[in-house]
Formats: sequence, C-alpha cells, structure tokens
Amino acid sequence: MKTPSKKTDVYWNPIIETLPLERLRELQVRKFKKIMKWAYDKSKFHRKLYQEAGLKPGDIKSLKDVSKVPKVEKAMMRDIQRKDPFPYGDALCVPLEEVTEFRQTSGTTGTPVYQPDTWQDWEWWAECWAYLLYAQGYRKTDRVFLPFGYNIFVAFWAGHYAAEKVGCEVVPGGVLDTEARILKIQELRATAMMATPTYVLGMADTARKKLGIDPARDLTIRKITCAGEPGASIPSTKKRMEETWGAKVYDHVGATEIGAWGFECTEQPGGLHINEAMFLVQLEDIETGEIIEEPGRKGKIIITALDRIAQPCIQFDSKDVAQWSKEPCPCGRTFRVIQGGIVGRADDITKIKGVLLAPSAIEEVVRSIKGLSNEFEVVVTKKGDLDDITLKIEFLPEEEKNREAILTQLKDQLRLKTNLGYNIEVHPFNSLPRYEVKAKRFKDLRKHG
Ligand SMILES: [Zn+2]
Repeated sequence: MKTPSKKTDVYWNPIIETLPLERLRELQVRKFKKIMKWAYDKSKFHRKLYQEAGLKPGDIKSLKDVSKVPKVEKAMMRDIQRKDPFPYGDALCVPLEEVTEFRQTSGTTGTPVYQPDTWQDWEWWAECWAYLLYAQGYRKTDRVFLPFGYNIFVAFWAGHYAAEKVGCEVVPGGVLDTEARILKIQELRATAMMATPTYVLGMADTARKKLGIDPARDLTIRKITCAGEPGASIPSTKKRMEETWGAKVYDHVGATEIGAWGFECTEQPGGLHINEAMFLVQLEDIETGEIIEEPGRKGKIIITALDRIAQPCIQFDSKDVAQWSKEPCPCGRTFRVIQGGIVGRADDITKIKGVLLAPSAIEEVVRSIKGLSNEFEVVVTKKGDLDDITLKIEFLPEEEKNREAILTQLKDQLRLKTNLGYNIEVHPFNSLPRYEVKAKRFKDLRKHG
C-alpha cells in the first residue's frame, strides 16, 4: 500500500497550490488574456467597454497591463439586466439555452443582480470550494451538515457540491428549523458544518436555552466554515464561536458575481489565502488608484474570475477592502494571504468626527468583552454639525451585577481601538434584532438626514 506523501494530504491540488510565484503570475496573465478575449468575442457589453478604452485582448502582456482594463461595478451589471437576452442582458457570453443555474445577489446594497452559470461554471464553483474545504481539513471521513435555506441565493450551495466532490457525506438541513437542525446534528453525529457567524452563535444559544444542549460537550461538530460576514476573521468573534462549539472555525470569502475566491487554511494564519490559480486579485489605493504590492497598506479589491464563462467577472470592483500579509503562510501554499481577511467595505469605511472607522473594529471590541451578548447595533447621526455615534448593547442576564465594571471596560476598549467616544445604550437582553443571514448592525443615518 502506498503511503500518501505529506503534500498530497495537505493540498487539494499539490502542484498548483505550491507553484513558484513567477509561474503562478505567468499562469494568471495567460488565463486573464484568454477570458478577456472570450468576453470581447462573445458579449456586446464587454466589447463596447474595451473598445471605448482603446484596448484589445492582445494588448495584455503583463500584470501591469491588467490595471489598464476598465473596471466593472455592480451598478453596471444592474443596468444591463432584464434586457435581452432576458433576464441577463448582453454581458451573457453563451447562448441562453446553455445556462443551467440561476442565482441572484442578496440585494443588501440595492436591487439584486442576476447571475447565470453554465454547467461548466457550476463545476468550476465546486472546484473553487473544493480547494477551500480541503485546506480546512474536510476529508472523506466527514459528515457535513448544512443548516441553511437552499434558495435563490448562492450561499452554501457550492459548498454542498464541493463537500461531495471532496468525498464527504453531506446532510442538507434545508427547511428544518434551528432546533430540528441541532437535534439532527446530534442524532447523526455530524462532524462539520457551514454557516454565517451570526447563525453559528445563534444556534449555540438555541441549543443551550431551548434544548439544554452544550454544543462543545454534546455535539460532534469539529470544523465550521463561515461565510457571508467578516466574523470568522475577527479574532474575538472567532474565539467565541470556537469555544462555544469546541470546534475550529474557518473563514472563507466569496460572492455571487465573483465565486469563492479566498479561504483560511488549517494553519489559521490570521488571514485568507486567495485562490490565485482561479482568481486574479489586485489591491488598489482607494484615493489614488495605484496598485498596492507592499504588505500592511489597505486597498480596494479588484478581482477577476479567470475561468468563469457564462457571465464573466473581469476587473470587478468589489468595494471590499484588504491588505497583503507580511509573512508567507506556514502551510506552504504560495497563494498570497490577505491579513485579517476583508477588513471593511470601501463604502462602509467612514469618517466619524474626522476619524476613519471600519465597523468591524466595533464588533471586535464588543465580542471581546465577557458579559455582553453577541448582539449590538451602531447608529451614526448628526446633531447640528457634529457626528454622534451610539452603540446599543445587551448584558447577559447573569452579568447584570457587574454592569458598571463592564461598561468602563467597554468604553476604554472602544476609545483605544477606534479613537472615538460613544453614547452607550443598554437594551434588555434579547431585545436587539437577531439575524439569520446577513446582519445589518451598522446604521449610518447622516446621509438621509
Ligand atoms: Zn496557509
């Protein structure tokens, strides 16, 4: 019997994931030219975009040339939709009858955008996810539970197929309610699951309070893959999830119109690898547009899905903000790491009282303080000419007695981590909104008066 080498046991694709950087960049440029030519030849939308910029696919010879290629924003995709070929519009690069999957974006930032995929694209989705699940230790011996509503949002659909591709056994927890899902996990001794951080914490609450089940003690989930919100890359939220479930919690990033483009590996390097064999990511300075190569400097993610064909994603301005990590990851992958995952949205990073604030910094503080519930809400308003920021929190019932000490700790930490003073509003336990999918805890009301 052959013993698998250490390498084949660590990587989904040992050759690609350890490719020397120079060859990885060559591969990306080659694939970029190919997908740009495809879009230029097959879609009116892209051809017009490139012709107006005076660019042909043959003009792209290096990564530097890529930054000349016009960017596509979500609003542009919204504008072409519901037109011919209905309902996708003229960014579609395949005959309509080749489309096998319909999905749409969640619409948290406006009208939803439709996303067509061919069967080849769907297999590509599963391959993106296979890299990430394998990197997070999913193997044939895992029984994976998916506690999510299978519907028009892509969410964990591709995670489901990829878990099968990797060889896991998959349990679809679709229309079950939270209690039934927890009981099914217990009954089947599921070993892994995928959910948003908000739901991971919400499930644990329900398990303890309604069922008397302690997830860490009574359940066998040992790996959790998160998506949809930044929580699993925020150290205090990650720690809270890991302790509650007695499991390793891993982050991943993806989007309907992009694909699953980044993942945390079992080394948990404090950041996410970009799947650079399937995506090209460039970080662009938010103010100057300059491409950022050095670590530690924040920029906006401009991303290309290198192999997606039905409605290509080329030079997409994701509005997500990230920074390159200083150190290569100990896992040996040459895929670059973004430090701390997505650190904000270009639209959300906002100036309050003259200070730049990323809402995730407030989450980091609230979730690091023992005695507060997982829920909170931030409301920014204007009082006269001055910005006013209110943080709504809840105490855990058993911690009410330590109220003053907790409040002092909270105010100190907020001042230290965000350089801002807040009005703190204490709300009764369980009264702030609970979210099952994407939480909306940051409300900036200044623009709307
Ligand atoms: Zn790694």
